[in-house]
Parts: sequence; structure tokens; C-alpha cells
Amino acid sequence: MMHYVSMAGDATMGHVQETVDEWRAAHNLPLLPVRMVSDTVYYSTREAIDFLYSYLDDTYCPMVEYHDETMRPCEPGVRELELDRRLESLRGRLAARNRPWWKEHQEQTAGMVECPECQSMLNVEYCGVRKGWHNHCPVCHADVRPRAVRDQFDRWNAEYLQLREERDRLRDRRKHPLCRLILLSTQDGVASNRIICG
Ligand SMILES: [Zn+2]
Repeated sequence: MMHYVSMAGDATMGHVQETVDEWRAAHNLPLLPVRMVSDTVYYSTREAIDFLYSYLDDTYCPMVEYHDETMRPCEPGVRELELDRRLESLRGRLAARNRPWWKEHQEQTAGMVECPECQSMLNVEYCGVRKGWHNHCPVCHADVRPRAVRDQFDRWNAEYLQLREERDRLRDRRKHPLCRLILLSTQDGVASNRIICG
């Protein structure tokens, strides 16, 4: 029977060593130092066990980091909740991106809009209607919305992508908490496993 102990990813080395010493003393085994034996963070308990099993050594207790899929996900933290709120707000603002701008802002025109590229004069009555035009010039296909409006949407979109990446990273991390697995005893070398939690 192989024995392992699983500990939180932020446990101090002192606490890890103490836990391992206590267990080995209780089982009448000589005390051994704990040593991190891999830079790799393993993606599951199975992978961590397989690596430690291949790493048998009787002069120290090998340890690796891994993502424990059996642990309950943590609750989202303050930052993740704040990111969710900001993403929702940005989604609301970006939803207006494809609406016909000049149809909704006719009052800012004298009934006509000039294409910034080809200088065609476009009748706003045909903006956003069937067989009319939307946000692009029907002659040269340039975007006819005010430059500042397009830039604003681009900034919101860039901000959205950046915040979403951060949010996804935080979410992945708490769904599969980072842990450490330490091989406590190789005893008779039988490949059946027992994991205790430190
Ligand atoms: Zn044009």
C-alpha cells in the first residue's frame, strides 16, 4: 500500500515537513526530508501519483504540485465577482455596436450624413431600414459612424477581452485548486494508493 498526503498549495514547507514527520513517526518509520521533485504542475491526482510512483526514493519523500479535480471548487473571490459585473456592463454597452447609429441619432443631422471616405451624401431616412443602409456607406462600404463612436466601441471591446481573460484565469484556478502531493511511504511497493489530507 502506497501512502500519500495531499496538502494545500500554499502550505509552508515547515508545515508539510511536520505533517509528514508526524505520519511517519506514528507508523514507526524513520523521518525523511520532503523534497519538491518536479517543476511540472500535474493536471490531475492520477498524473501526480503516477509521477511520484516512478520516482521512488528511500532517502527523502518526493513532492509535486497538481490540480486536484476531486476538491470542491472554491467560491469566487472579490476580484472575480467584480470582473463579472464589469463584463456584464460592457456586454450591455457593446450590444449597441451593431445598431444603426444614424437612425438613432437623426436629430444630430440635417437629414443627411456625409460619407467620410467618398463624400457621398446619405439620406438618414434610409438608415436601418430594409434595402437601405446600416452603418456602412452603400457606395464605398466605409463605416460612416463618427470616429469617436467607433473608437469608443473598440476600446470597450479591447477592455472586454482583457477582463474576460483575467476572469477566466481566476475561475479555472479556483475550480481546480492547486495542491501538493507527497509520497509518505512506499512500504511494500504495491501499487494501490491511499491518500490522506493534511
Ligand atoms: Zn462612401
